[in-house]
Amino acid sequence: MKHKVYASDLNGYAFCPRTIYLSRVLKLGKKPTKERYRGIIEHTLRKELSFRYSRILKRVSEPLELRESIDRELDSTLQGFPFIYRELINQSPEDVDYNALLPELVAGLHEETAALHRKLEFMVKEAGLKKAIEEVTSWRIDYMVESKGLGISGKIDKVLQRNNEYIPVEVKTGRVPFSVWWGDRLQVTAYSMLLEEELDSVDILFSIVEYTAALERRPVKTTERLRRAVLETRDDIIGILEGFVPEVCCHGNKNKCRACSFRTECYSI
Ligand code: SF4
Repeated sequence: MKHKVYASDLNGYAFCPRTIYLSRVLKLGKKPTKERYRGIIEHTLRKELSFRYSRILKRVSEPLELRESIDRELDSTLQGFPFIYRELINQSPEDVDYNALLPELVAGLHEETAALHRKLEFMVKEAGLKKAIEEVTSWRIDYMVESKGLGISGKIDKVLQRNNEYIPVEVKTGRVPFSVWWGDRLQVTAYSMLLEEELDSVDILFSIVEYTAALERRPVKTTERLRRAVLETRDDIIGILEGFVPEVCCHGNKNKCRACSFRTECYSI
């Protein structure tokens, strides 16, 4: 296919088709504002911590040791972050110092680790340590997938392996919906379809959206309806890449525009 569509574009399109025009065609948002950069760092820190649940569990022998293990992993996350995400740190806007952002972000993370402590403690007490470790251990993290046939590519946050089943997981650190946001459904279904291509004749029956703020994993069945919606949305995105320009606030939801990081540019074009 002539145009590359990313699985995350499907999510962006579901939020607002015009974000695709602004980000992919006009290439706005490459240089983040201070507010947007802070949000990206916060999201990446939370996601990095979510990659480390199995490390937290593997060094404890009983629930009482969990708090200390979580604090240790949080320290390690903060220490390693600038080395792992060097490119992201280097993209900071001129008026933003990563180190100056940290105290406020760490305070937010401490709240999250208190909830993580409760959740892991519950898992260990209910299922036992061995089973809890199995539950949170990923087969792959940041797993790149691409299919020429589908014309979609992406990077899956985590892939779990349970016996012979593979389960893609997308980590979301923002607002938690009642169920699963439509855009998140499209994105993880695209990952399921991409993994099926990648792993050759494996059926991915469901994927997971992990909402870190609620520490909940919500499954999404790989239904025919969602598979069709992935392909239709891909084609709509290609339409924008080939010249169609969605109108401002085409969805009619002003609340989305108020929350949108493209708002200033979008309304002034
Ligand atoms: S400001 Fe509104 S119309 Fe513009 S991209 Fe954002 S959500 Fe879409």
